[in-house]
Amino acid sequence: MKKIVITGAAGFIGSNLVDRLINEGFFVYGIDNLITGSLDNISHLNSNNNFDFINHDVTKYIDIKDKIDYVFHFASPASPIDYLKYPIQTLKANAIGGHNALGLAKKNNAKFILASTSEVYGDPLEHPQKESYFGNVNPIGPRSIYDEAKRFIESMTISYHVYHKLRVSIVRIFNTYGPRMKIDDGRVLPTFIKQAASNKNLTVNGDGTQTRSFCYIDDLVNGIIQLMNSEYSYPINIGNDDEVTINEIASTLISILNSESKIIYNELPEDDPLKRKPDLTLAKKILNWTPKIYICVKRKIWRKKKRIAIFNFYLLIKKIN
Ligand code: UDP
Repeated sequence: MKKIVITGAAGFIGSNLVDRLINEGFFVYGIDNLITGSLDNISHLNSNNNFDFINHDVTKYIDIKDKIDYVFHFASPASPIDYLKYPIQTLKANAIGGHNALGLAKKNNAKFILASTSEVYGDPLEHPQKESYFGNVNPIGPRSIYDEAKRFIESMTISYHVYHKLRVSIVRIFNTYGPRMKIDDGRVLPTFIKQAASNKNLTVNGDGTQTRSFCYIDDLVNGIIQLMNSEYSYPINIGNDDEVTINEIASTLISILNSESKIIYNELPEDDPLKRKPDLTLAKKILNWTPKIYICVKRKIWRKKKRIAIFNFYLLIKKIN
């Protein structure tokens, strides 16, 4: 039985990945220090013989005695509210925690898979964002805590590949949503869903014309599994390329939920990217992966897909209430 270490196992993406890896027949050591992750996300695995939870801070040496085949580094606060609450921990979880995870992979000659982010592109001047784009990041702005930490650990990962011949994959994850997202982490979908479900005002930042492209968690996990099985070592975007404005999201949610909420406009946070949409050409070419589930705020999308999207919203709401 092949064995996997995954850091950030109790987080939103980490815990969904753990479920999938166990279903694929792996033994999983899940590491988390629970500063932003939650045991609720993995409690269903308490009596699973193929899962071992280790409460550990990855900035300290990761001591696993077993022989490991894959190391996934997914530990980090990831929402703007979380990383602004834990700025130094975020920088350290990526830089020092990432280095420790790379060391564990090297010791075991295991494949290393890094969770990177669309934030490496900053407030992008190129649209959509291709992997070859170097980005537009303010190195000392409020978002630099996360952006620069991920840029550093991407560089470290490639260095382990080039200098130590370690097998690596780097997934640049774009906005993702789905069950186990925290209701209060400040991200736009859970925030708006909670507000609309309780008839409170939806708090749009800026004028709401900024865009994002939202990927459903199952699509993301499929992409990561395909990447894990590929020989490609350089960053690959995984996300959804159905670009929507924040205003469109707000009005769609009000209508789907038959809510009496109104929209109010607040100041746009510093360095908040105005546009974001992945160029998925490389994911299609290298992994033959494309997203299948659409959030569908646009009329032209098929009825069937629309039903799926609404169902996904409800899953989130169910989790939230
Ligand atoms: N946003 C908003 N209202 C909120 C929360 C977020 O208008 O209550 C905006 C935010 O300013 C950004 C977009 O929604 O332009 C997506 O924000 P999120 O925090 O979900 O993710 P990120 O900015 O990291 O893509």
